[in-house]
Amino acid sequence: MKPEPHQDRRNDAGEWECGRLYVVATPIGNLGDITHRALEVLKSVARIAAEDTRVTSKLLSHYGVNAPLTAVHAHNEQRAAQALVAAIARGEAVALVTDAGTPGISDPGAVVVAAVREAGYPVVPIPGPSALVCALSAAGIAETGHRFVGFLPAAKGARRQALEALRAEPVTLAFYEAPHRIRAMLEDLVQVLGGERRVTLARELTKRFEEIHVCALADAAAWLEADAHREQGEYVVLVAGAPDSGDETAAEGTRVLELLLRELPVKAAVKLAVEITGAPRNALYAQALARKNDK
Ligand code: SAM
Repeated sequence: MKPEPHQDRRNDAGEWECGRLYVVATPIGNLGDITHRALEVLKSVARIAAEDTRVTSKLLSHYGVNAPLTAVHAHNEQRAAQALVAAIARGEAVALVTDAGTPGISDPGAVVVAAVREAGYPVVPIPGPSALVCALSAAGIAETGHRFVGFLPAAKGARRQALEALRAEPVTLAFYEAPHRIRAMLEDLVQVLGGERRVTLARELTKRFEEIHVCALADAAAWLEADAHREQGEYVVLVAGAPDSGDETAAEGTRVLELLLRELPVKAAVKLAVEITGAPRNALYAQALARKNDK
């Protein structure tokens, strides 16, 4: 028989009365970036399910946490999930962590979480660092909305195909990339999305050699090559969404108008600029008059 939904499994003091899974975010570099609550949970649970027990051991020993570790990674997640559900069913509180950041974000975790929820036990998120949010918070992107893509396929053909499918996406595209593929990835971004879009390269966030660089996609390869260290370290890559086609036409109209006004009177320049670019006549006429009045 399934247990009752977790809302019903707290006592009058609001404390959990059964086993549960805590999904705990851990630092993405700087060990100081762990929340007070995350530490309290890690110190209190009967077991910690970790993506790589060696990586998590370092974090735990830094904070003097001694709970036993169980390995849960991409290759054993189904099997491990059942064992964790059994432990929770016995009344154990279990914490789930990955090597860095928030479990389930381009990381294992979803299978365990789904199994625990399916079995009717509480899943309690303990929020904290994630490279995506960290990069977005410091990128200064005013447009709202983004699409988190995570890792693109490793093979070139599949990667370009995936990018083709994203080409018309109007919101910021957010990627994760490993250091050994960053150069090839940037090449493909330029090939498929063009060189003009703004890109934010957020490298080694929260670590000693953190860098956050904003440039046009066409200039990203030169930035990468300017320092050999840049092909090492982890990256979040944020690429501006597809430009509004109306904006592009208007910009092209202004550019052509500027050229024509050097040689022609206002009326003729506007007429030709409209014919060449399809930009709205009224807007170009107003720009031409304003330009004339400036002189
Ligand atoms: N679960 C993690 C999170 O919440 O961000 C992501 C794990 S994913 C396996 C690892 C990728 O996240 C890296 O290849 C890189 O793209 C990004 N990443 C993780 N830490 C980072 C850091 N300190 N600086 C920049 N990117 C980072």
